[in-house]
Amino acid sequence: MTSLTAIPAYAAPAPKAPLERTTIARRTVGAHDILIEIKFAGICHSDIHQAREGWGKGIFPMVPGHEIAGVVTETGSAVTRYAVGDRVGVGCFVDSCRECEYCEQGLEQYCVQGTVATYNGREKNGEPTYGGYSTHLVVDEKYALRIPEGIALDEAAPLLCAGITTYSPLRHWNAGPGKRVAVVGLGGLGHMAVKLAAAMGAEVTVLSQSLRKKDDGLRLGATHYHATSDEATFKELRGSFDLIICTVGAPLPLDSYLSLLRVDGAFVNVGAPEEPNSLNMFSLIAGRKTLAGSSIGGIPETQEMLDFCTEHHLGADIEVIRADQINEAYERVLASDVRYRFVIDTATI
Ligand SMILES: [Zn+2]
Ligand SMILES: [Zn+2]
Repeated sequence: MTSLTAIPAYAAPAPKAPLERTTIARRTVGAHDILIEIKFAGICHSDIHQAREGWGKGIFPMVPGHEIAGVVTETGSAVTRYAVGDRVGVGCFVDSCRECEYCEQGLEQYCVQGTVATYNGREKNGEPTYGGYSTHLVVDEKYALRIPEGIALDEAAPLLCAGITTYSPLRHWNAGPGKRVAVVGLGGLGHMAVKLAAAMGAEVTVLSQSLRKKDDGLRLGATHYHATSDEATFKELRGSFDLIICTVGAPLPLDSYLSLLRVDGAFVNVGAPEEPNSLNMFSLIAGRKTLAGSSIGGIPETQEMLDFCTEHHLGADIEVIRADQINEAYERVLASDVRYRFVIDTATI
């Protein structure tokens, strides 16, 4: 039996402080819980936003990590879905109210009472939650996902946030054959959006600040690649796209981007700038356009995404790091110097 009172972890002791090795306690394995030995944890840009309080006040010490892949090592007495040895993942939330209309539809990410975030959140009993930068996690089996054989666990970890965050809007807005999809920004989210949209059969264009990553974009599945720093791009591509998935976390000139949509097209934000943005309503009215947002995905859709990725042999493009490289990795993420996701080998914690 694993001791749950002193689990090795990496935590930020205070806002903006470097992460350091520590130990945390997890709850004992309840009847509906599974104990997961974490193998890999992805580094999401939002880990940095939260550890540095870019999105508001955080709970410290903070153990980030919501792109978690591992193996079940213990099951509670009432667990039915998983057995010891199963490969599982955990994404951005570990609980929700379970009874509102959205929870009932499997849209737990939009739970009216809010989800219990995997880290920097509080369980229903008020205990703080700790994320994947650790060796073990206890979670209710309902909030775990099955990682099929056929995806390596390290390449699967980022699918639990970056994968589902892009898969969900691509599905909701019907990316597929005959649809022209643009992906704004080729980072952790963007590179998954390109792979997924291409696998769904859409014609994919990358809109990036420069042409620096053009070869990567085409290799990942894009047919076209344009620099948004070039004014000619907006003239050339006017009225081109059915769907634009914006993965950029900085405010963009929305009117210019909306002009790239066809009639009935949608511009969907999955990146979350810290500052508000504005637009001219005529950019929407002319062409019956939609400006939307989308947040991760529910448990059923996250499972569907993992199965889709297995079927299409898709994982994230990753760089595996040791735990003592986390702080350096954060700086590199902020400098967009990662192709395309850092994944922590949790055996090094
Ligand atoms: Zn994330
Ligand atoms: Zn709910």
